[in-house]
Amino acid sequence: MADFYFGLDSNPPQAKFDFVFVAMHEITHGLGFGSIVGGDGKYRLYDSLFNPHETTLPSIFDRFVEARYGPDKMKPITFMDKLERAAAVISDDLFWGSQFGIAGNTGQPVELYAPSTFVSGSSVSHLDLAAFPNELMRPKYAPSNFPNHSIGLIELGMLKDIGWIAVPDPSTLLLLGSGLVGAGLIRFGRNK
Ligand SMILES: [Zn+2]
Repeated sequence: MADFYFGLDSNPPQAKFDFVFVAMHEITHGLGFGSIVGGDGKYRLYDSLFNPHETTLPSIFDRFVEARYGPDKMKPITFMDKLERAAAVISDDLFWGSQFGIAGNTGQPVELYAPSTFVSGSSVSHLDLAAFPNELMRPKYAPSNFPNHSIGLIELGMLKDIGWIAVPDPSTLLLLGSGLVGAGLIRFGRNK
């Protein structure tokens, strides 16, 4: 059982896991930020008992994953057969190929986590650790890195690419709304 730190200041003691960071990371996976490709290149879904079942369809996330193909070309992993895909996911040369994620990285390719040994549950489904050591969707919890309680532009763009509509931070709207209501109440009070 992990020992969690429940403070909201992004400043957990070294021995504890920052709960908000971990919850945000896992919720982001739950929103579809994840691959279902295995080390053998096959797509798999898991049932409620965690038994794997091979499927013919990739996840929505997988549809935007590309590997280098020749010097200047990229090839989506969904256009590969399973052997080619199995090689791609351990190539350490795997990228997010869609516009909003790339825009979130100031137009630069977004490297995904694809170490030379396939790590089930981590490979493909995260940003590359070396390239993005401080992002929410890095593959490892690292207490030496300062946990970040706001989702970054890269992950936000990637969620947008897979079909989510990004709206302004609700706290801004709430503040504006409560400010207007508050002003209205004060005015109402004075008129009486
Ligand atoms: Zn994760």
